Amino acid sequence: MTEPRPTITRAPFGRLPDGQAVEAFTLTSGRGMELRVITYGGIITYWRVPDRDGRTDDVVLGHETLEGYLQPTSRYFGALAGRYANRIAKAQFALDGHTYTLAANNGPNALHGGLKGFDKVVWAAEPFERPGEVGVVLTHTSPDGDQGYPGTVKVQVTYTVTTRNELRVDYRATTDKATPINLTQHTYFNLAGDGRRDVLDHVLTINADRFTPVDPTLIPTGELAPAEETPFDFRKPVPIGARIDADDEQLRRGRGYDHNFVLNATAGALVHAAHVSEPTTGRTLDVYTDQPGMQFYSGNFLDGSAVGKDGHVYKQRFGFCLETQHFPDSPNQPAFPSTILRPGDEFTTTTVFAFGTE
Ligand code: BGC
Repeated sequence: MTEPRPTITRAPFGRLPDGQAVEAFTLTSGRGMELRVITYGGIITYWRVPDRDGRTDDVVLGHETLEGYLQPTSRYFGALAGRYANRIAKAQFALDGHTYTLAANNGPNALHGGLKGFDKVVWAAEPFERPGEVGVVLTHTSPDGDQGYPGTVKVQVTYTVTTRNELRVDYRATTDKATPINLTQHTYFNLAGDGRRDVLDHVLTINADRFTPVDPTLIPTGELAPAEETPFDFRKPVPIGARIDADDEQLRRGRGYDHNFVLNATAGALVHAAHVSEPTTGRTLDVYTDQPGMQFYSGNFLDGSAVGKDGHVYKQRFGFCLETQHFPDSPNQPAFPSTILRPGDEFTTTTVFAFGTE
């Protein structure tokens, strides 16, 4: 029996309007999983995984070409979000006696790092191969004042594919001035196959006893509310659609699920955050993380305006995101775990996405 052997290849992926070249890396696990990462936004453009009969299909939303990702209808498909993934209330925060003002790019709030967040920059990239795994190290330096945030931040994100059909995402960041940091991967999954239908029949388990309820602009109220006896109880497997249209103020505010779950975590340890299974194909996805929270977003704001790969029209709830991260608006919420990175310290975090079948 031959051992599965992961591979990685590199190719051009077009140019931005300003002439910057973008590259694509194709990573294979040697066991039927294949994904492509581009240096623009660290975006995962496709992710092919086997079903229970060994048939592979692309299970993420995205575009075929770079131009697709430059359109405003491309809603962070597959991208790295930062410096501060998720929302900061009223697009401002105070830190060490200064008030910092950000662009309000989501109603009154700041979302996903600003007008030009980490999802819209070209990262430097170095591929690597090791026994049983391959990967690519992406690096980016965000200058002092970038999008209103203080400090020069050096960030490194490593994508590693293993023979276990896993993608491990390791994040690191340092700064020369205190600044908030919250990084995540914003892939929209549809385990039935990209753009085929909605994700409401996917069965989801989330290892969280509590979630952070939000105000009408999706900013946490500060409360850590029990999930028990609410549509937010995913501690046992439940179809995403089972309660999504329930008469519930929180669901109305998100137009479905768009909430941060407080993971039952042990600080610093990788815990099993979520399990998803898709009944028709048998595909499963497990998410492990050392982060305190996970935003479960059920693709409520997809409205059919984004046309993706193979001409698929991304309608409401055609993809879901499991964004491991700190709680939204932490810079303004003293009771939440801190997201402030200080000079001399290093921010490090890991998330693993593992595919299988059942
Ligand atoms: C947010 C959604 C938003 C989506 C795309 C998610 O992380 O929670 O509210 O629509 O990103 O921008």
